Amino acid sequence: MHTADRTGEAALHWHAYAKTGDEVYSLPLPYGSHLDGDLWLQMPRDWIAATFDDEDAADQWLKEQLALYPPGNIAEQGYANATLYTRWQLTRERHKTVWADYRDRHGREVVRLLVPCPRPSAPGASRKTPPECPETRRSAGPLPG
Ligand SMILES: [Zn+2]
Repeated sequence: MHTADRTGEAALHWHAYAKTGDEVYSLPLPYGSHLDGDLWLQMPRDWIAATFDDEDAADQWLKEQLALYPPGNIAEQGYANATLYTRWQLTRERHKTVWADYRDRHGREVVRLLVPCPRPSAPGASRKTPPECPETRRSAGPLPG
């Protein structure tokens, strides 16, 4: 539940998603779209691992996740980018989904996302209506499949 700001719009927050190993391979998302924040907001509400109202907490969560699942190779792009740019993105590119996607030292695929919400329409975006906040949607269905 989020408080509305004075304009009546829900304040910006981030929904965190975390899938590892077999959970990643069984995602009901087209593989090339598995880092698309719009799609994750439409997944069942209980997929939300946490919700953060400020970038400090969101940044801290992702740092902890990366520490819990050490990479096989710290130079892997989907890990290195997350370690280098998460803070910057949360602060400076607030409409963008922050993600990590890499193999951990046990060979498991690790996918972590911080999806900003409500989703603003990025300039030039083709979609017309951003997905609504999943935490206001009370009728989320069961897991697909
Ligand atoms: Zn939300």
